[in-house]
Amino acid sequence: MYRAVEATRDILPGEIERWQFIEQTARDIFARYGFREIRTPIFEFTDLFKRSVGEATDIVSKEMYTFTDRGDRSLTLRPEGTAPTVRAYVQHSIHKAEESTRWYYAGPMFRYERKQKGRYRQFAQIGVEVLGADEPHVDAEVIEMVMFFLASVGLSGLVLHLNSIGCKTCRDAFQEDLHKTLAPLIGEFCSDCARRYDRNVLRILDCKVDRERVAKLPSILDNLCSACEEHFTAVRGALDDAGVSYVLTPHLVRGLDYYMRTAFEVTAPGLGAQNAILGGGRYDGLVKQLGGPDVPGFGFALGLDRLVMILPENAGLPAAADIFLVVLGEAAGKEARRLALTLRHGGLRVVLSPAPRSMKSQMRAAGRSGARYAGILGETELAAGQIILKRLSDGQQEACALGSPESLMEVLAHDRS
Ligand code: AMP
Repeated sequence: MYRAVEATRDILPGEIERWQFIEQTARDIFARYGFREIRTPIFEFTDLFKRSVGEATDIVSKEMYTFTDRGDRSLTLRPEGTAPTVRAYVQHSIHKAEESTRWYYAGPMFRYERKQKGRYRQFAQIGVEVLGADEPHVDAEVIEMVMFFLASVGLSGLVLHLNSIGCKTCRDAFQEDLHKTLAPLIGEFCSDCARRYDRNVLRILDCKVDRERVAKLPSILDNLCSACEEHFTAVRGALDDAGVSYVLTPHLVRGLDYYMRTAFEVTAPGLGAQNAILGGGRYDGLVKQLGGPDVPGFGFALGLDRLVMILPENAGLPAAADIFLVVLGEAAGKEARRLALTLRHGGLRVVLSPAPRSMKSQMRAAGRSGARYAGILGETELAAGQIILKRLSDGQQEACALGSPESLMEVLAHDRS
């Protein structure tokens, strides 16, 4: 038997409705804030990710699905969505057409990660990018939007972690300090941190293994330059104004090279070690670094796989059918198919009993299906030009004229959710 590749999976009906519910809610809420969708290819030139995400990051150094195509080009399945979005922004000279751009994307990402609960090698993200705005209130507005979205899908008890990781000026000085502080201590940290010490020292602050040791390290928040300090104070003020609560987390750093200033993450209880459901921040230098104009950026990506795991049980449940047609006899079957067509075109959800079976077993199937009504159509009803509508919640029934589907639809639409 063939099985799906390790750390990838199928999403079957029953679960897919939860995904659709999240996607639809995101589309609805993001549109209220002026965001429009962009779709980029699943693969890009490898160089794009090397340049933007950074050679020293875990993603580029060990997690990319990179292959050579038949034209001898090095291509990579996208491990994240910001670089392709910015590539498209630059390629299509969007900055010439609009001062500020609000885009979102949704789709699969690919990383060769260690197998673990909540970690997949193909996983889905929805991400948002604002290009062309560096005002602190924009950072706050986007964070406010995502918190509103999370509440709208029924999640509570989430924690918003907020930090500023400074700009190149203050971060370079801080990194140098951190190097010095860590020099005599690094032997006590985990092996990943030992590697990060030389290549990406800031990431040590984000180590999930040595929490206690990390807590004793200096904080970048105490080392911000005055411009970054001012920016961060304004972001916090705007969040307070919007009634968004957060926890200051000075050791929160983002895994990718291109982030600066505001960094944030939302964690959820009940997810174990992989408890981040989204992360984002400001990346003012990235557009320029990818050959575009000097346009600032801010965004986040949220992981759908983890969100689906913590969604309330009843969220996005498939809508039950409006009517299950219980049919006895060939002539009634033909009439039922005709009726189903009319009702479906009228916007109703209809199940046709799949095989000729006894009335009793069809009624049982109707009950199991969760449909709101059973529509009973046997030879007697057919001869009388009627269909019996039985409300399955309480057994109440009434006869409706077959020749007037409108009145049938009226009854069915009456208490529809
Ligand atoms: P990142 O792009 O690393 O900032 O990740 C943003 C969000 O995507 C995370 O908070 C996770 O929810 C999700 N995510 C990242 N990597 C994975 C993965 N391998 N499997 C499932 N979800 C992931």
